[in-house]
Parts: sequence; structure tokens; C-alpha cells
Amino acid sequence: DLYNKVLELKGNIRVFCRCRPQSTDELAAGASMAIDFESAKDGELIIKANGGPRKVFKFDSVFNPQADQETVFENTAPFATSVLDGYNVSIFAYGQTGTGKTFTMEGTEEARGVNYRTLEELFRIMKERQKLFLYEITVSVMEVYNEQIRDLLQSDSQPGSSNKRLEIRQVAEGVHHVPGLVEARVSNMSEVWEVLQTGSNARAVGSTNANEHSSRSHCIHCVMVRGENLINGECTSSKLWLIDLAGSERVAKTDVQGERLKEAQNINKSLSALGDVISALATKSPHVPFRNSKLTHLLQDSLGGDSKTLMLVQISPNEDDVSETLCSLNFASRVR
Ligand code: ADP
Ligand code: MG
Repeated sequence: DLYNKVLELKGNIRVFCRCRPQSTDELAAGASMAIDFESAKDGELIIKANGGPRKVFKFDSVFNPQADQETVFENTAPFATSVLDGYNVSIFAYGQTGTGKTFTMEGTEEARGVNYRTLEELFRIMKERQKLFLYEITVSVMEVYNEQIRDLLQSDSQPGSSNKRLEIRQVAEGVHHVPGLVEARVSNMSEVWEVLQTGSNARAVGSTNANEHSSRSHCIHCVMVRGENLINGECTSSKLWLIDLAGSERVAKTDVQGERLKEAQNINKSLSALGDVISALATKSPHVPFRNSKLTHLLQDSLGGDSKTLMLVQISPNEDDVSETLCSLNFASRVR
């Protein structure tokens, strides 16, 4: 079947798809749905296009609108174990604005997301291993906006201010470092919550429209785990990246100008660079174009090799959004 796109498990890349529920407004308006949840088998997502052919996409996991934060996290938890075992891990939320990227990653105080839960899982496993391993955890929170990196834990950092712009330096073959970036040491979950809140609040500072700003920038958490094996003294260090990507929606050049057009071009550039890098790694291409965006450059030592990548593709259930939904599903097929 031409329309069947099969996402096979390939190497260390996993792709999940999560569909948000219809909002109360959409329900009240009787908005029609583009997704056939009833006939989908495990791991399938079926688009029932308006009169057109049905399209079946396959993922490592599919989360229907009813799936809660706990269910999504159960499938994500193995990545936390990998980090403590010394692997670098990246977890991305990809999709059109309004599809639940921030809900999945950050969540709310009552329904906490992947960021908090993954750190909670790290602490749980650390406790289990405390007689064997000594771990130290630090968290950094940054934002990439218009190809500029801003430290969200540096209290006086404002969007667009030039004095706090961070740069990426190569410290060894393939190993990158961001000099000056705050690394907050965390030793329990209340410290984690505090750091996550500080980062989240800083995103809004200095922008006229906090929601718009956050949908046009990538929000990046870097969790550094340094471990010492208490039996043989061996040390490990690994990174966990938790990334709420900028909205993937296409912006028509005719609709925007100036600053907004530049923003849109930068988002487009960095999301396609990410797709290019992951698909180059998946196909074992000899050239992986890490340097084409700040995001992929930053992640260079954590993508590929024995690193693990999880792409959470977020979609809307609505017929009105089906063309953006198909773009996101096609992106997912590219990175498999
Ligand atoms: P994005 O970050 O992709 O722009 P948001 O996370 O802000 O999207 O989600 C848009 C709206 O939909 C928010 O009000 C959010 O609370 C709600 N939402 C998203 N996903 C879910 C879900 N799985 N369950 C309940 N509400 C959700
Ligand atoms: Mg968001």
C-alpha cells in the first residue's frame, strides 16, 4: 500500500505520537476529527482524510487523547535508566503550536510532564543504586531563539540582549561546551521543581507575548549526570536533553514580514537541520550536518553513536489541522 508508511525500529531512535484531546470550544463547535481511533491497531495512527485515501502511520507508541501523563511517562521511563547507565539521551517534543508539546514536556503542577517525571525516575534509580554508585546531577535550562542561545537560569538575561548570548565551544573531538552556562546542582525533587519553575518563568521575561515567544523558540533542558562506581572507582558522565521545540507550522511568506519572517525562517532552518541530522544518522550517512543550526551543534555529542533519541510527535485531532498533522507525520517518517 503506497499510503502505508511504516516506522520501523531503527537503531537507537524511537518515535512516539501523541494526539491531544479536542478543547471544550472545539467540542462545543462540533469540530470534525481527522483521526480514526476506533480501527487503529497498537502503534497505528490512521488519518481519515476528507474523501481522500486513508493513511496509516506506524509508531513505536501512539497515545490517544485519553492517555494521561502517567501513561506517556511509563513508555518514556526506560530512557532515564539509560542515562544512569552512561548513555546520552535526547527527548524532543515536535509539532504544530497548540498540539501539546509543552503539556507533554512541562505539564502542569497537577499533571506534571516528562521533564519532572524523568528527573524523578533518575532520583528513584539513584537511590536503588546508592550502595554501588555515587551520582551528581546538574540541570541547565536554555532557550534557542533566532539562532541565539539564552541562559534561562541567569536571572538578568532578557530575550534579545546581546551581553548574555552564549556560544558553543568545542572542548575535545566532538565534545561541546557552553562556557558561562549556569549548571544548577540538584539533590532532591523539590530543588528540581524549583529549577524547572525558574527556567519556565524566565522564558516569559521581557517578551511582549509570552505564549507567542515560547512557541517560536526551543526550550532546552540539559541534565548532566556524573557517576562514580564505588567498587572500582570508574567514572561516567552522560547527558539527558529534554527539548520542547518551536512550533513546526509553516508560515506563508506573504503573511509575515520583518522580524516575524526572520523568526519563521530560523525555526524552519533549525527544525529541518534536526530532521537532516537524525535521518543522516538513521541511514548511517558518512556526513552528518551538525553545524547547520545551533540546536544540532549543541546536541552534537548526544546524537548518534550509542546515544538514544526519542521523538514525541504531537498532533491535533481536528480536520482543520490535517495538513499540518500530515507534515508532522512526514517529519516523523524522515527521522525513523
Ligand atoms: P504547544 O506547546 O504544542 O503549543 P500546549 O502544550 O500549550 O501546546 O497545549 C495547548 C493546549 O492544549 C493547552 O491548553 C494544553 O493544556 C492543552 N493540552 C494539550 N495536550 C493535552 C492533553 N494531552 N490533555 C489535556 N490537555 C492538553
Ligand atoms: Mg508550547
